[in-house]
Amino acid sequence: MKVLVTGGMGYIGSHTCIQMISAGMTPVIIDNLYNSKPTVLDRIEAVSGQRPVFVNGDVRDKALLVDVMTSHKVDAVIHFAGLKAVGESVQKPLEYYDNNVNGTLVLVDAMREAGVKSIVFSSSATVYGDPASVPIREDFPTSATNPYGRSKLMVEECLTDFQKANPDWSITLLRYFNPVGSHPSGQLGEDPQGIPNNLMPFVSQVAVGRREFLSVFGSDYPTKDGTGVRDYIHVMDLADGHIAALKNVGTKDGLHIYNLGTGIGYSVLDMVKAFEKACGTTIPYKLVDRRPGDIAECWADPAKAKQDLGWTATRSLDEMTQDTWRWQSENPQGYPEV
Ligand code: NAD
Ligand code: UDP
Repeated sequence: MKVLVTGGMGYIGSHTCIQMISAGMTPVIIDNLYNSKPTVLDRIEAVSGQRPVFVNGDVRDKALLVDVMTSHKVDAVIHFAGLKAVGESVQKPLEYYDNNVNGTLVLVDAMREAGVKSIVFSSSATVYGDPASVPIREDFPTSATNPYGRSKLMVEECLTDFQKANPDWSITLLRYFNPVGSHPSGQLGEDPQGIPNNLMPFVSQVAVGRREFLSVFGSDYPTKDGTGVRDYIHVMDLADGHIAALKNVGTKDGLHIYNLGTGIGYSVLDMVKAFEKACGTTIPYKLVDRRPGDIAECWADPAKAKQDLGWTATRSLDEMTQDTWRWQSENPQGYPEV
């Protein structure tokens, strides 16, 4: 199976390419390197033994997409490419709708022209808004509170309408919970530019001395220790979820929606404690005000993915923190420029 992987140089995409190669699939990457570095390709090759085809290009470039899909005889697409910072999306809504929504529409239009009818889309648990209860099932109501979340929801709705009109297409919406961790080799990991928005990269930069302390956003939530609770999932488990979804794509038309999570919630302080165990030092932190827009708790009911795809997350919290630490300590400044 040959798969066009948009955003394949990014955090989740690069790990997925490695798992695809080990499953005997051939990734063809298109990425504009807006949020990733060319050296990721060397790392994928070092770990997997194969250097995927890489096209430096934009998902809004229809002619390029048609050409790449046709010349490489692609069977399916995984669509990771997009912008993902919630705070930034409030400041730059147009950029978010253009990259995430318009980018997807151009991609699907290009797929139609190239005769490729299977797509797996990177959605997010953010589409559940503030859920009425946990664990969250796929049939829970959706909503959005910021342009990033709204862009994911809009794409879900566009793809759902498109699939209804084109029943021979296979469209899979994967709603990720909180991806963390790194490839166990320590060669690939999350490499945010500037100040990390997400908890785990921030904690690991504190551990490696790049930041002084962690600000814990809110300690008065109605949770076990007052801090926010999330469903952290190892990025390798998430990557495997894409392989399972691709295998399903090969056999089933239709619209499929799956949560990719573990079904377990950990608090911010649980994560700090687990990380301290992995890195062997104390993580200084301060309890500060809640971050606007954050919810108290969020974790998945992952039963549907298990039932339909035979996929379930298997990696433990210790593996998430140990692998993150290996990546961060061996690459304290992230990927080299060249
Ligand atoms: P990432 O930023 O590491 O990877 C995205 C990649 O897409 C980057 O390499 C970037 O250069 C590329 N890209 C961005 N816009 C592009 C464009 N217009 N054309 C071509 N390439 C483009 O992000 P990630 O964490 O790997 O996330 C991948 C996907 O998963 C995103 O769609 C994101 O919204 C979604 N997601 C991520 C998380 C998370 O916490 N990381 C959670 C839920 C959903
Ligand atoms: N968080 C925190 N300090 C940080 C970053 C995040 O306390 O510097 C908390 C945040 O309030 C939430 C959890 O960690 O409860 C996960 O946040 P993240 O931004 O990683 O993911 P999301 O908000 O998308 O679930």
